Parts: sequence; structure tokens; C-alpha cells
Amino acid sequence: MDMNFMSSRTAPGNAAPQPLPDLRGMTLPELGAFAVAHGEPVYRGRQLAAWVHARGVGSVERMTDLPEALRARLASQAAITSLHVAHRAEADGGDTIKYLLACADGSTVESVFMRYDDGRRSVCVSTQVGCAMACSFCATGLAGLTRNLTAAEIVDQVHAVQRDLGERVNHVVFMGMGEPLANYDATVRAVRLLAAPYGLRLSARHLTVSTVGLAPQIDRLAGERLPITLAVSLHAATDAVRSRLVPINRQFPLDVLLAACRRYGDATRRRLTFEYVLLAGENDGADDARALGARLRGLLGHVNLIPWNPVPGMPHRRPSASAISRFARTVGGYGVATTVRLERGVEIMAACGQLRRAQTPGIRPRRIAPAVG
Ligand code: SAH
Repeated sequence: MDMNFMSSRTAPGNAAPQPLPDLRGMTLPELGAFAVAHGEPVYRGRQLAAWVHARGVGSVERMTDLPEALRARLASQAAITSLHVAHRAEADGGDTIKYLLACADGSTVESVFMRYDDGRRSVCVSTQVGCAMACSFCATGLAGLTRNLTAAEIVDQVHAVQRDLGERVNHVVFMGMGEPLANYDATVRAVRLLAAPYGLRLSARHLTVSTVGLAPQIDRLAGERLPITLAVSLHAATDAVRSRLVPINRQFPLDVLLAACRRYGDATRRRLTFEYVLLAGENDGADDARALGARLRGLLGHVNLIPWNPVPGMPHRRPSASAISRFARTVGGYGVATTVRLERGVEIMAACGQLRRAQTPGIRPRRIAPAVG
């Protein structure tokens, strides 16, 4: 069976616990097949989809148009992943809300809701518990990877926020904890479920997947025919600097990565976003800006400069506002569109991985405070 829609919840009373099929991770055809396999008419699949994907309910008891006997059977034979709010922190007058959400096995992940004046309601979702990429400036990477999230756990982050706020989300960015393309199947399944006409019906154009730059998976994603936005975390324009900040660059150096980006743009005709976290004295010099402009000139994409969000204990500094705008001007001089990311939620540690670290006493920094003994 496709493990992408199995839950971490298990059937009660079994000697060897078997994961239950997770309705939240199933497409409409899979829900239909599930219904038929349980002796129900295929149209039950559509009813289930309306509950788990469009309304995002957390339990079968709420599925009032299903016969009681079926509800009882579902309650014991299927799971509906529903993350619960373990912690929430508000900033920007309530327009930024950071959630720590708990999975059935007790793992926690971060999701951030952002409300904008132009009507955008965005959720930043996590794709893994922790992360294996170990980028030098990122809080998530400090504790390493615990496990992949299932597609159900990814999409339910959006439902969990909607359940909590009673407000509709219209944009989703895959920029929380983890590397989406290292959890490829669950990420692509989650994208399809979020965009599905029987689900939240999010426009694929309002879905952004951010990657550290796994070149082979970028090629694979280009073949999915999903009109989503791909964001690539570049952070440097020379291999020497990038390998220091983003260790995976040693495996997929800039030439390899940018060739994949070019192919992605050619195949999808979609403009890429290049993310560039600015770190004072490390990648924010005039040389860095010129190298970046020269590398990206002629590529179908734009640069999003992100002033580093400080992580306590990390030996980086964010550049001054004038250094940031000088950098943006230099890159722009190469004809490469450049914007500076609007900052949200700095006071609630909205940068990836920070809230979980602060809330989880067991998570210990790996490199900045080596264990003694
Ligand atoms: N693994 C994916 C997505 C998660 S991180 C990726 O690397 O793209 C989302 C973005 O936030 C990445 O560009 C990442 O480099 C950036 N980021 C991580 N920690 C940050 C921090 N402390 N300040 C600013 N940006 C950060």
C-alpha cells in the first residue's frame, strides 16, 4: 500500500500495531476506492472528501450525512490526521500567528499564519520534523532530522489554522521546517490535495514550494505539470561561500543547481524566486552582489533578499538597512528583479525552527554548544 496515506495512528488492541489508512491523505479516487473496499457506494468518497479536505473536520462524529454504522466503522478503521495546537504566539497586532502543532505521535512542527492588507491569508507549512540540511544560519537544522511528515500532516497544518481562526487561507508556502523536496512524494501529494477542486481549491499559483536546491528533484518537479511557484534558497553566488552556508552545495554545486533551475523555467514557463538570506560580512558584500547579478542575468526569476532573522547563539549578524538596499541596487543593476522580504513576527521567533526550539527543552543545539563529556 502507498505509505503516503497511512497514519501514525494505529488500530486499537493489536499485538503488532498497524498504521490505519489516513483519510486526510487520500485523493478523491482513493477515498472512493476506500469506500467501495468497505462495502459502501463509491459516492461516499465524495462525502468523505468534502469533510476531510473541504471542511477540514477533525473527527468522523462530525460527518453527519454518513450513516451511523459507517461512522462507527470509520472511527475504528481509519484515521483522520488532525494536528492540535500545542502553542500559539501572536505578533504584528495579531496579523502574524505562529503555531506549534502536535502530531499523533507527539512530534511537533511549526506553522505560521500571516494576514496581509491586500487580502492574502497565508500559511507557512513544515514538511519534516526537523531537517537534515544543516544550513549554517537556520534554527531547524540544529537538531537534525527526526522524520518526514505525511501528506496528511502537511495539509492538516492549513486545516488546523483554519479550525483555530475560522478564517479562510488562500496562500500556502512550503517554507517551514524541513526540506520539501527531500520529502518529495508527500510534498507533491499535499500540493495536489490543497489545490484539488474537492478540497480547499487553492490556486496552484498561490502555492510556493521552497527548496534548498536538490537539483534532481527540481527536474522531477518540472515534470509534474503543477503551476506552482518554486523558490530556491541560493544565499550565495560562489561555491566557496555557498558550501559554507548550505552544506548540500557540495553535492549540487551552483552550476548544477542553476542548470536545473533553467530547465525548470523552460519546462514550466514559471518565474523562479531566488531566496537570499543576508548575513553581514559573509555574503552581503559588493562582490557577492555582482556575482549574484552576473549568475542570474537572463534567468527567468527574481531575487528575494531576506535579512537574517537572528537565532540566539548563532555567530551571524544581519546587515544594516543601508547595506541591504545597496546590495539590492547592485543586483538590480544586472537587470535582475530584486525585492527585500517584508519582515513578520520577529518578536515571536517566526523564522523557521525557532519556536519549536524554544518550546522543546529536549532539543539541543548541535554545533553551537557541543555536548560535554
Ligand atoms: N528547506 C527549504 C524550506 C525551508 S526554509 C529551503 O531551504 O528553502 C525557508 C527559507 O527560510 C529558506 O530560504 C531558508 O534559508 C530561510 N531561513 C532559514 N532560517 C532563517 C533565518 N534565521 N533567517 C532568515 N531566513 C531563514
